[in-house]
Amino acid sequence: MSRSFDVVVIGAGPAGYIAAIRAAQYGKKVACIDEWKNRDGGNAFGGTCLNAGCIPSKALLESSELFYRTKHEFKKHGIKTGKIELDLATMQKRRASIVRQFTGGIAGLLKANKIEGLVGHGRLLAKNNIEFTSISGDVEIIEAMNVILAPGSTPIEIPIANFDHKNIVDSWDALEFDHVPERLGVVGAGVIGLEIGSIWSRLGSEVTILEAMDDFLFMADQDITRIAANDFKKQGLDIRLGANVTEAEVSKNGVEVSYGDKDGIQSIEVDKLVVAVGRRPYTDNLFSNDVGIQLDERGFIIVDDECRTCIKNVYAIGDCVRGPMLAHKGSEEGVMAADLIAGQAAEVNYDIIPSVIYTSPEIAWVGKTEAEVKALGQPYKVGSFPFAASGRAKAMEQTSGMTKIISSKYDDEILGVHIVGPMAGELIAEAVLAMEFSASTEDIQRTIHAHPSLAEAIHEASLSVDNRALNFPNK
Ligand code: FAD
Ligand code: AMP
Repeated sequence: MSRSFDVVVIGAGPAGYIAAIRAAQYGKKVACIDEWKNRDGGNAFGGTCLNAGCIPSKALLESSELFYRTKHEFKKHGIKTGKIELDLATMQKRRASIVRQFTGGIAGLLKANKIEGLVGHGRLLAKNNIEFTSISGDVEIIEAMNVILAPGSTPIEIPIANFDHKNIVDSWDALEFDHVPERLGVVGAGVIGLEIGSIWSRLGSEVTILEAMDDFLFMADQDITRIAANDFKKQGLDIRLGANVTEAEVSKNGVEVSYGDKDGIQSIEVDKLVVAVGRRPYTDNLFSNDVGIQLDERGFIIVDDECRTCIKNVYAIGDCVRGPMLAHKGSEEGVMAADLIAGQAAEVNYDIIPSVIYTSPEIAWVGKTEAEVKALGQPYKVGSFPFAASGRAKAMEQTSGMTKIISSKYDDEILGVHIVGPMAGELIAEAVLAMEFSASTEDIQRTIHAHPSLAEAIHEASLSVDNRALNFPNK
């Protein structure tokens, strides 16, 4: 007799494992299938985020920033050091050990919640049956009352620069380099390209980032990106906009990269080329054709606002469906799907999803940019505060950047908060919470913020919306 479950989740990334845990919290009998294989051949739960994305990139961003600051900032603090040397092997060992601890932690969480963690491939068949192929090749048909598809995404490969995973690499390869490339090329100045470029630039690579679009980080507020672009330039990152990569050829000395810009065809030679031009939903062999799951023209599984596919009791969540490809967005969809399966009311507020870029300075935002508000024709007010006027930022020697707040002219409701500066990724949480409660800037103005703290920049920016900033001259 085949095994049956109340809920079967395919994919144990941040969308899938969270959905599985929440479903188990309702007392459901849950299985979570995952096939992830690390470069050492070992299987691990946690998906892209834990194995090849959020966690390893943040580990290396932290290490490389410490290395950079030790070299460039310690003198200012009156700290004398001997020769600063890089021990990349130890840095990479630390990164791998963090990943191991966290992926092991997911296996532990599944067990603690009595979830059957199944290592292997899951494929949805008609009538909500799942074909599970274990890593040893055994095939089993599992019955599921409810199915949650959470297969994630994979790097987009462009035919002009196919991955050989040695010279032309993806973001995962670039997190596992065992030496610092002298010259590193990156195709794409998106979030991943900038984070990878920052890591290796801080560790000594000469980094060139080629971006086809003329606007830098078009999705962020342009007052913020202007400051970030300036800082990246000062750090030595060579970001070339309007540079459309048309060819990449592995040569004796590295990779010959050709790109077109306003002046014609250009070329550069690099030792390694990271192609970071986005990710595509990973739905390869995920369901049989007779199931009826529908994909849109870009390959995303079509779902409604509640992540329901067109098949009864089949949900899809995370990177494989519309919306930003972010771990926390997938996790919230996982919670929603499990809540709905348990008969609870649930929703995801897609208007209030924070975005963070973990460069130095960090960039973080939530809600609408000024350009978006302007395009809506909605009357609005803007306030801002520079970190140069923050005592805490000064003490940290990290004064570059600002906080900017946009609110409605009608009722002062906060429409967007944009930060470039130290700990922007942490600071944005206050703005997310405020917006979730439909707060006005006056609510933040009347909220006591500790002194001296970076969060005071949010307080002062709120005050500045009404020309009431206290620690910086108003407009
Ligand atoms: P995934 O994490 O991709 O997990 C899907 C899992 O499903 C995988 O383990 C896969 O092997 C498995 N799977 C797929 N198909 C099957 C099948 N048929 N059978 C069995 N198993 C299957 N996001 C952030 O929010 N913050 C960050 O700082 C951040 N940094 C990033 C840095 C990098 C370098 C990269 C590449 C991504 C980063 N992301 C970040 C994005 C984040 O990793 C993704 O948004 C997130 O992992 C998506 O979660 P998911 O659960 O949908 O999919
Ligand atoms: P993201 O989708 O945020 O990961 O960013 C990927 C970036 O890669 C986008 O800004 C694209 O404009 C950029 N891009 C895509 N194809 C090319 C190309 N051939 N040359 C240069 N940049 C590219």
